[in-house]
Amino acid sequence: MPQNVLVTGGAGYIGSHACKALAAAGYVPVTYDNLSTGWREAVKYGPLEEGDLMDRAHLDAVFARHQPVAVMHFAALSQVGEAMREPGKYWRGNVGASLSLIEAAVAAGCLDFVFSSTCATYGDHDGVVLDEQTPQTPLNAYGASKRAIEDMLKDFGASDGLRSVVFRYFNVAGADPEAEVGEFHDPETHLIPLILDAVDGKRPALTIHGTDYPTPDGTCIRDYVHVMDLVEAHVLGLEWLRGRESARGAEVFCLGTGSGFSVREVIDQAKLATNRPVPVTEGPRREGDAVQLVSGSKRAGEVLGWQAKRSTLPQMIGDAWRWHQTGGYGRA
Ligand code: UDP
Repeated sequence: MPQNVLVTGGAGYIGSHACKALAAAGYVPVTYDNLSTGWREAVKYGPLEEGDLMDRAHLDAVFARHQPVAVMHFAALSQVGEAMREPGKYWRGNVGASLSLIEAAVAAGCLDFVFSSTCATYGDHDGVVLDEQTPQTPLNAYGASKRAIEDMLKDFGASDGLRSVVFRYFNVAGADPEAEVGEFHDPETHLIPLILDAVDGKRPALTIHGTDYPTPDGTCIRDYVHVMDLVEAHVLGLEWLRGRESARGAEVFCLGTGSGFSVREVIDQAKLATNRPVPVTEGPRREGDAVQLVSGSKRAGEVLGWQAKRSTLPQMIGDAWRWHQTGGYGRA
């Protein structure tokens, strides 16, 4: 019988791709999502349980109904600018909601947990490449809330035997190469979809947030990883956890490629991938942005056997462009 995995945020960008990867690996992804930022149409590979993580009674009923063997927890607020303006929303919406989920999972005896964390937990480290040991000094309530959830997972590991894998993502990009699901935020704040909006005239131009950073071309540097590579790591992490009967506590893995690209380099690649011009304007720095976030870790490869097979800029932008041309969700 196929086994169920509870996927919070399964109607969102990364969660929907994770559902596709889980289904391909023989699991049934059960999406738990309040559809505040996710899309009903993105739930294609298993059932949708519509609900809020703060609704503990509903969560308990969902655990009882589906008896999941594990949880993949993607549901989160993730906009740095908003987190700077409204930190309470992030402490409640990320930390409070995750506490409710973890307690429900423990109460249900569902003790294998895969968590989506972020390199935003690191803050600025002066151009140093980052790995699992780098101190976490987040610059904003988004990164701080994710770090707090990592701590929570460790505590519940010690007290209740919760076994978790924590993935610290670098910049997730691209889309399902078959364009069944993709990135579609409202409002959109991420670089590549905003570039593609500028390419096809949905926006007048892409604004570069800061051109005076201490980098070779003055723009911020990020490590971009293809969303399909990223979700494959989650399936590997899940299977690794389930194969380790005696494990407990939180195991951390960075998910990046080790290559950093500046905003201008991404724009140049987008011109090539779309074969169209990218209208650009230069603006001030965006509050809360680190200068450079690049992974120096090989741990996911060494321990989980993960390889970032599709994470080249041409492939990520090409797949994002193919998805972009479908018009996204909510289309007539
Ligand atoms: N960026 C930009 N213009 C935009 C959106 C993003 O110059 O309209 C820059 C941003 O400052 C950062 C990089 O692109 O250096 C990636 O930003 P994104 O929001 O995609 O991801 P983040 O690194 O914040 O997670």
